[in-house]
Amino acid sequence: MTEFSGIIAGGGLVGLTLALALHQKGIKARVFEAVKEIKPLGVGVNLLPHSVQNLVNLGLLDEIEKVAIKTSSLAYYTQDGKTIWREARGLNAGYDVPQFSIHRGDFHMILLNAVRERLGPENVITGHHFTHFEQDGEGVTAHFTDRHTRDEVGCAQGDFLVGADGINSRLREIFYPNEGPPKYSGQMLWRGVTEMEPFLDGRSMFMAGHNDLKLVAYPIRAESATRGKSYINWIAERLIPSDLAARAADWNERGRLEDFKPYFADWNLGWLDIDKLFENALSIHKFPMVDRDPLPKWSFGRVTLMGDAAHAMYPNGSNGVSQGVLDAMTFADLLAKASDVETALTAYEEARREATAKISLANRQTGPELVMQMVKDQCPGSCGATHSCIPKEILEEVATAYKKLAGFDKQTLKATK
Ligand SMILES: Cc1cc2nc3c(=O)[nH]c(=O)nc-3n(C[C@H](O)[C@H](O)[C@H](O)COP(=O)(O)OP(=O)(O)OC[C@H]3O[C@@H](n4cnc5c(N)ncnc54)[C@H](O)[C@@H]3O)c2cc1C
Repeated sequence: MTEFSGIIAGGGLVGLTLALALHQKGIKARVFEAVKEIKPLGVGVNLLPHSVQNLVNLGLLDEIEKVAIKTSSLAYYTQDGKTIWREARGLNAGYDVPQFSIHRGDFHMILLNAVRERLGPENVITGHHFTHFEQDGEGVTAHFTDRHTRDEVGCAQGDFLVGADGINSRLREIFYPNEGPPKYSGQMLWRGVTEMEPFLDGRSMFMAGHNDLKLVAYPIRAESATRGKSYINWIAERLIPSDLAARAADWNERGRLEDFKPYFADWNLGWLDIDKLFENALSIHKFPMVDRDPLPKWSFGRVTLMGDAAHAMYPNGSNGVSQGVLDAMTFADLLAKASDVETALTAYEEARREATAKISLANRQTGPELVMQMVKDQCPGSCGATHSCIPKEILEEVATAYKKLAGFDKQTLKATK
C-alpha cells in the first residue's frame, strides 16, 4: 500500500472523524484547527443509525453510550398537542444500532480525546487558521496564520488536503470566490438547553408547529437522566424573512428570550411546560437557518472539501453531522484502496457529492417535516387527538422517502453494513 500523509484543515466533528477513519486505515494525518483551544461548544445534535454504524466501526460506541441519549421515537405535533405522526427510532425501530441525541460538545470531546490518544496529541495542531495552499505533482502545501493577529504561524506539507473547515470554509472560498455568505432560509433559530423534568418517555424527540413557527426538542445527556431529569435541547424557530442581520451565521451569537417566547404564548402541548423550558434555559444562542448551494465540484487535484464546507444543509431531518461522518468514512475507504491520491479524491466526490446535494435540496423543501405543513394547510379543524386529515400512507411515504434519500432506511443500511 502507498504511504499517504494528509492535512486536515478544521478540527470540528468531521475533521476529527476523518482523522480517526484515516488512522484506522493506516494513513497518517494531521489536523489543523483555527481556534487556540478546542472547547465543548454548541448544543444538541443527532447521530442517525447510518453514521452510528460507522462510529461503532471506529470503536467509539462505549464512549458515546456513556453520555448520550438513545432516541426512542420521533413525533410531529400541531401547536395544540395533537399528534400528526409518530415513529420509532434507532433500536426501537429495529435498527442494529441506536440513534443518539448528544450534546455537540460532548461528542466533540469524545472525538478529540480519541484522536489525541490514537494519533498522538502532536497531530492536533490548534491556533492554525488555514489561509491558502499550493499543489503540484509531488504534494500539497497548506499555509496557516494566527486567526487574531493574522501572523503566519507555519505551513504543512502532505499528499492531500481536506477542507473540513465548516460552513464559512476558507478552502471553499478559494475554489468559489464569488459565492458569498451562506443562504438564509428566512427562518431564525433560537437554540437552547434546559434541565427540567422529562417529557414523554424521556428519550423522545418531537417537532411541533409548522413552517412559520416551530418548536423542536429532545433530551441529550444520559447523566441528567440518572438524576430523574432531562437535559433538553430545544430549538424555537420563527419565520423572519427580512432579518438581514440573520445572515452572519455565527454559532456563538447569544439569543434573547423576548425575540421568540411571546410567539409561543398560546401553545399548549399538554405534556411540556414551554414557558419553563424557555425561561430556565442555561444558554440561548441565535443562529439563522442557512445552507449553501450544492457545488459542481469538490475535488481539485490533491485537495477536496468535506462536511459543512462541502454541503452545509438545513437541520431539517437532523442529517448534517451524520452526512459528514459518512463523507469521512467514504474518503478513508477509497484512499486506502487507491494507488494515487487524485483518483481517490475523484472517487470520493463521485460517491458523496450528488448524494449530499439531493439531501440539501430536500431539506430546503423542509425534508421529513413536510408533514407538519401538510396538516397546517389541509386540516379542516375537525381532527381529534390524532390528526386523520392526511392519510397515514401519505405520512409514511414522506418519512420513508426521506430515510431512503439520506441512506438510513433499514434496507440500505443492511446492504451497506
Ligand atoms: C462552535 C460551533 C457550535 C455548533 N453548534 C451546533 C449545534 O448546536 N447544533 C448543530 O446542529 N450544529 C452545530 N454546529 C455545526 C455542526 O458542528 C456542523 O454542522 C456539523 O457537525 C458538521 O461538522 P464540520 O466538522 O463540517 O463543521 P464544524 O463542526 O463547524 O467544524 C469546523 C471546524 O473548522 C474550524 N475552522 C474554521 N475555519 C478554519 C480555518 N480556516 N482553518 C482551520 N480551522 C478552521 C472551526 O473552528 C471548527 O472547529 C456548530 C459548529 C460550531 C463550530
